[in-house]
Amino acid sequence: MVEKSFLVQKFAKLTLGMYTVIGYSVAGEETVTQIPELNVCFDIGRAPYFALTSDIVCVTHGHMDHIAGLPYYLSQRYFQGMKPGTVLLPRELEAPVDAMIKSWRGIERQTTPYTLVPMSAGQMYEVRKDFAIRAFATHHGGISLGYSLVSVREKLRQEFIGKTGPELVALRKQGVEIQYRLEVPLVAFLGDTTAGAVFDHPDVQNAEILITETTFFDPTHKQKAKAGKHLHVDALVELLPKLKNKWIILSHVSRRTGVQRAKRVLTKKIGPERMKNILFLMDFEGATDAGDVDEAGPPPNDSAE
Ligand SMILES: [Zn+2]
Ligand SMILES: [Zn+2]
Repeated sequence: MVEKSFLVQKFAKLTLGMYTVIGYSVAGEETVTQIPELNVCFDIGRAPYFALTSDIVCVTHGHMDHIAGLPYYLSQRYFQGMKPGTVLLPRELEAPVDAMIKSWRGIERQTTPYTLVPMSAGQMYEVRKDFAIRAFATHHGGISLGYSLVSVREKLRQEFIGKTGPELVALRKQGVEIQYRLEVPLVAFLGDTTAGAVFDHPDVQNAEILITETTFFDPTHKQKAKAGKHLHVDALVELLPKLKNKWIILSHVSRRTGVQRAKRVLTKKIGPERMKNILFLMDFEGATDAGDVDEAGPPPNDSAE
């Protein structure tokens, strides 16, 4: 007697206005979050199939649950005839990641093309004239960056509105700056971080969509949050008043708690009204509650996540 069934890893898909957020995130296991409309994936997890379509990957830090799939992502894109992947990553990780990818050449017997873009906090990478990615510092105890996807526009200065085309051309010829640069943060992704100055960054406070970790929810997990430089729900609650985002997405919840219980804990602390624009990435129909350790995956341990 043979019984057949399928085990399928489920991914989250959120549609928020103009943007879709596709991803999977459980602390210590895998974190990968894609915004397909902007052609960007934040971290790569184990390189699930959906992530392969993003031309750009922004790596936040070197923990295995965020970066393990990078060589697979690059190799698969090459194999499938897509253009080489572009990987933004903290400057300090460039050399070891480059060495890691190159070591695959000897294993795979194939030369996979790729582009690494070393980034520092405050640096902006121009994807197109009207779209850029900014890196900013996060607080995860080592080398780590967050990223914001920024729409860039040249706008006419207030004092010149109403002038005719020829008048504007004449002003320009005189060397007058008739335009100013308008930057609108669309999506900000923090990766792993504890509370700190990152939450005062204008992109983080104002991005239409903010994706932040909140790993721990139990009162007894405060020490774990401190030790691993992760965000505890009590710290998030303190930070919420300064976050003006249209949507806040919480990810990287620990298996020790599970998304459903995490949601109940947060709702109890801030009330259903404040919860209206706060979503848990992994809160979807049919998702295995990551709290059910016996049924879903290996038991959590204390390795870096
Ligand atoms: Zn992590
Ligand atoms: Zn980490």
